[in-house]
Amino acid sequence: MKSVKVVVVGAGVIGFSTAVCIAEALPFCSVTLLAEKFSPDTTSDGAAGLLFAAKFPDIPLERQRRWFKDSFDHLLAIAQSQHSPEAGVMLSSGWQIFKEEPADKKPFWSDFVIGFRPMTDRELNQFPDRKFGQAFTTIKCECSSYLLWLEKRFRKAGGQVQQRKLNSLQELSNSYDIIVNCSGLGSKLLVGDTQVYPVRGQVLKVEAPWLQHFIRDGDGMTYIYPGIHSVTVGGTRQEGNWRLQVDEGDTKSILERCSRLVPSLSKAKVLSAWVGLRPSRRNPRVERELVQLQGHRVPVVHNYGHGAWGVTLAWGTALDALGLVKQCLHEMPLQAKL
Ligand SMILES: Cc1cc2nc3c(=O)[nH]c(=O)nc-3n(C[C@H](O)[C@H](O)[C@H](O)COP(=O)(O)OP(=O)(O)OC[C@H]3O[C@@H](n4cnc5c(N)ncnc54)[C@H](O)[C@@H]3O)c2cc1C
Repeated sequence: MKSVKVVVVGAGVIGFSTAVCIAEALPFCSVTLLAEKFSPDTTSDGAAGLLFAAKFPDIPLERQRRWFKDSFDHLLAIAQSQHSPEAGVMLSSGWQIFKEEPADKKPFWSDFVIGFRPMTDRELNQFPDRKFGQAFTTIKCECSSYLLWLEKRFRKAGGQVQQRKLNSLQELSNSYDIIVNCSGLGSKLLVGDTQVYPVRGQVLKVEAPWLQHFIRDGDGMTYIYPGIHSVTVGGTRQEGNWRLQVDEGDTKSILERCSRLVPSLSKAKVLSAWVGLRPSRRNPRVERELVQLQGHRVPVVHNYGHGAWGVTLAWGTALDALGLVKQCLHEMPLQAKL
C-alpha cells in the first residue's frame, strides 16, 4: 500500500516535471498533481521553449550548471528517441547575435549545448549591424505537446490529477504528508511571496517553413525560433505588467524587428498571437521548509520563480525538488512512513 501522500501544486512545465520525477523515483508514495489550470491554459504552453539561460545572481554557479545540464541531457535523449514528435522536443541550430561583443563570450551553459563556437565572418555578414555572434545547436521543447506527454508518463507511474483552485496551502494540510509548490506566479498569493512578479511576454506564431535556424538577439528582446509546426517570433519583456491581452502595438513592433533581421518574414502569414506572464524572481526558489498549517508542521518543498528559463531548467530543478522530498521523508516520523 502507498503510505506517504504527496501533492504537487501546478500543472505547468515545473509542476509536471517535478511530479513525474517524484512518482517514478518513489513508488511507495501516492502522488497527486493538483492545479487550477492545465494545458493548453498554462504559461508554459505558450513558451517558445528554446533551451538557453542567463545567470541568476545568488545561486552557486555549479548548481545552475547542473540544472542546465540535467535538463539538456534529459531532453536530448527524448529528441533523439522515437518520442520526439509526440513530446514536441527537437534539436534546433542557430545563432545568438550581438551589436557589441558581450563581456561573457562563453556562457556557463556553452559546454552542454552542442557545437558551441563563435560565428564566422561569413555567418555574421547576414546581420550587417551585428559585431559578434555565437553558433550552437540546442533544443526546442514545445510545451503544448510536452505537457500532455509528461501527463501520460505521470499517470503511467501511478500519479493522479485533480483540477482545483487553492486559496491557501491550509486546504491541503489534512490530506497530504508533503506539499510540493510549483505554482509559478500563483506563489505570490498561495505562499505570500512578495518577491515573485510577472514579466509580460508576447509572441506570434507565423507560417515560414523556409526558416530553419533560430536567431536570438543578445538582449533577448527579438527572436525567431522555428518549431515543428510554425515559427515563433518575439518578443516583449515588460516587468510588472499583468496584462494578458494581445497588444497590437507589440505585434507590429515584433514583426518590424524580426523582419529587419530576416526580411523574408515580412511575407510570412501570422497564425496567432499569445501573451504569457513569466513567473519571475531574483532567483528561483528551490528549497524546503516546515510550515505551520492547521496546528501541525507540514513539510513544503518549493520549486517556482524560473522567470524566462522555466522550460530550460525544469528537469534539473525537478531533480533537486525530488532530492528535497527525499530529505523530508527521512525526517518524517516513522508512523507516517508506515
Ligand atoms: C513569451 C514567453 C516566452 C518564453 N520562452 C521561453 C523559452 O524559450 N525558454 C524557456 O526556458 N522559458 C521560456 N519562457 C518561460 C517559461 O514559460 C516559464 O518559465 C515556465 O512556463 C514557468 O513554468 P511554471 O510551471 O512555473 O508556471 P506555469 O506554466 O504558469 O504553471 C503554474 C501552474 O500553477 C497553477 N497554480 C497557480 N496558482 C494556483 C492556485 N492558487 N491553485 C491551484 N493551482 C495554481 C496554475 O494553474 C498552473 O497550472 C517563456 C515565457 C514567455 C511568457
